[in-house]
Amino acid sequence: MATQLTKNFTLEEMSHSNTAKARNMKNEPNIEQTDNLFRLCNRLLQPLREAYGEAFIISSGYRSPEVNKAVGGVPTSQHMKGQAADVSVKDPRKLLAALLRSGLDFDQAILYQDGRNNFLHMSYNSGHNRKQVLYSKGTKP
Ligand SMILES: [Zn+2]
Repeated sequence: MATQLTKNFTLEEMSHSNTAKARNMKNEPNIEQTDNLFRLCNRLLQPLREAYGEAFIISSGYRSPEVNKAVGGVPTSQHMKGQAADVSVKDPRKLLAALLRSGLDFDQAILYQDGRNNFLHMSYNSGHNRKQVLYSKGTKP
């Protein structure tokens, strides 16, 4: 049975990794990381999803250090703390605009829309949210 973190997000989808599955790597968040995933969903992803009105596909949430390395994540990635998720929707640029309009608190939003990638990375760091917007290499600001 799935563990529901909020109405639309489960712990399983927040810690699923195709790479981990394919390479038989463990990718299980501990209590602290699960707590961060809950906050990320409860304070950011769920209210944003409701404002946006389209299903979010989580292409990456929690990553163990091993999985993060395997997918080429930066060594300081907030994915390893359970503080970040990559969200796929039809138009992630529109989702970024909705995020900024919403007034919701977030740490970083990074738009990946470079012809190869098409998602919005969002993080939430309780008490340290910077509301920083960045664009990946090759993505038009
Ligand atoms: Zn990410």
